[in-house]
Amino acid sequence: MKFYIETVGCQLNVLDSELAAAALISAGWERLATRKDADLILFNTCSVREHAEEKIYSALGRLKHWKTQKPGSIIAVMGCMAQKDKNVVFQRAPYVDIVIGPGKLDQLVELVNRAVATGEPQLAVSLDRFERRDLPRETRASFRQFDPIRLPETRPRVFQAMVRIMFGCDKFCSYCVVPSARGPEQCRSPRAILEEARTLAEQGCLEITLLGQTVNSYRYVENGKTTRLADLLEMIDQVPGIRRVRFVSSYPTDMSDDLLAAVRDLPSSTPYLHVPAQHGDSGVLQRMRRRYTVEEYKELVDRIYETIPGAAITSDFIVGFCGETEEEFQKTVDLVRYARFKNSFIFKYSERPGNEAAKLYEDDVPEEVKKRRNNELLAVQNEISGEENRRFLGQTVEILVEGPSKREARSVAQEETLYAECETLDAPEDAPRGDGLTSVDALVATGRSNDAQLTGRTACDRIVVFNGPTSLTGTFQRVRVVETSPFTLFGELVE
Ligand code: SF4
Repeated sequence: MKFYIETVGCQLNVLDSELAAAALISAGWERLATRKDADLILFNTCSVREHAEEKIYSALGRLKHWKTQKPGSIIAVMGCMAQKDKNVVFQRAPYVDIVIGPGKLDQLVELVNRAVATGEPQLAVSLDRFERRDLPRETRASFRQFDPIRLPETRPRVFQAMVRIMFGCDKFCSYCVVPSARGPEQCRSPRAILEEARTLAEQGCLEITLLGQTVNSYRYVENGKTTRLADLLEMIDQVPGIRRVRFVSSYPTDMSDDLLAAVRDLPSSTPYLHVPAQHGDSGVLQRMRRRYTVEEYKELVDRIYETIPGAAITSDFIVGFCGETEEEFQKTVDLVRYARFKNSFIFKYSERPGNEAAKLYEDDVPEEVKKRRNNELLAVQNEISGEENRRFLGQTVEILVEGPSKREARSVAQEETLYAECETLDAPEDAPRGDGLTSVDALVATGRSNDAQLTGRTACDRIVVFNGPTSLTGTFQRVRVVETSPFTLFGELVE
């Protein structure tokens, strides 16, 4: 039996897909690069934007025919949309076999087996934490941890891996679906995290990204001893083979001084911090239920740059949030200029029915105004990214080589049509392409492994493009920067 996974959304979803694939492979399933010959198609979904959900529903619509042509085939919908929509998925696409929330992934293989054996629809979702406020314990228990074994072949690059250190979120920002879709905040034990880091190192992993919705809120108490993120970084720093550790995403008010000192002092910690500000006006931040003012955010930015010289800070922003005036929007522009972010991920506000913002405020900023503000903020951010990158001109930087650049991989793919059916919906830039073939495989297949345009990343997460043999993939190299753009450093290998 063969399966294919399509992933939409954030890095947590990318990791869930990797773990789901590992669980299925361990149960004897084979992963496919395309959906063509699959017996099981899984959609790992996102609910953050309406657009992402609609794309999934139309992708499901396109599968109706496939399902009738292939009796016995299974369609599974997992991820945040599965948890949020529950039975609605079956109503909108009655030929779907499995709907499984992120808190129930430990039952995935069992549900697949049951669906295959019975042909009956299977639903596994956690309790709704807003409907069942009277059952906090049961709700928490219904969002179960999912830590199957790590298989190197399920990662796009063996030498890079994500490690989840916590589940869920308790911040309740008014616009966000995550606290209901992924449940209450629950931290994994330091022992389990450390064990996983060691396993990954044994598999050849050099770089680990620790994941959590508010990763710097990590706190685990056992036998009277509290472990925080700074302690975890110190523990992972001792794991032989792990050369780089970063963590995403941080919540501004939980960025303690000891954590910043750990990032500065530990050899494996990297000076890259993703700390979403979301807005530059304190009134809007209050409506968003963020727990800080813009002054406090600026103070944090100052503290980061003072503690970690050369730190790269990145942020998320929402433009066009309910009631956002032109003056309030300009304060976001001011914040971007003040903080000099390496880059920002900018989103137009998308109302999500049922969450606090939708209940309390009107989504009253016209679409064209949202679009204009999005473009204006992006232009300012690009100008700053360009200026910050220019400071690297002439410098020699150490990079971890990730493989052929996208342009190179694309041209090879066109030549070989290796990726003809690799359709990604709205995957993040770095999401695995789900085709089971790395770009290096593709280049080797076409005999072009000695002269490729490669990319790598600096410790501060800047992308570097240079020419070199693909055999450098997965090694650390020194590159002299000879040209820059707002998004990329271009360099030459240093002998
Ligand atoms: S911190 Fe806010 S935006 Fe981030 S996941 Fe939690 S509720 Fe959502």
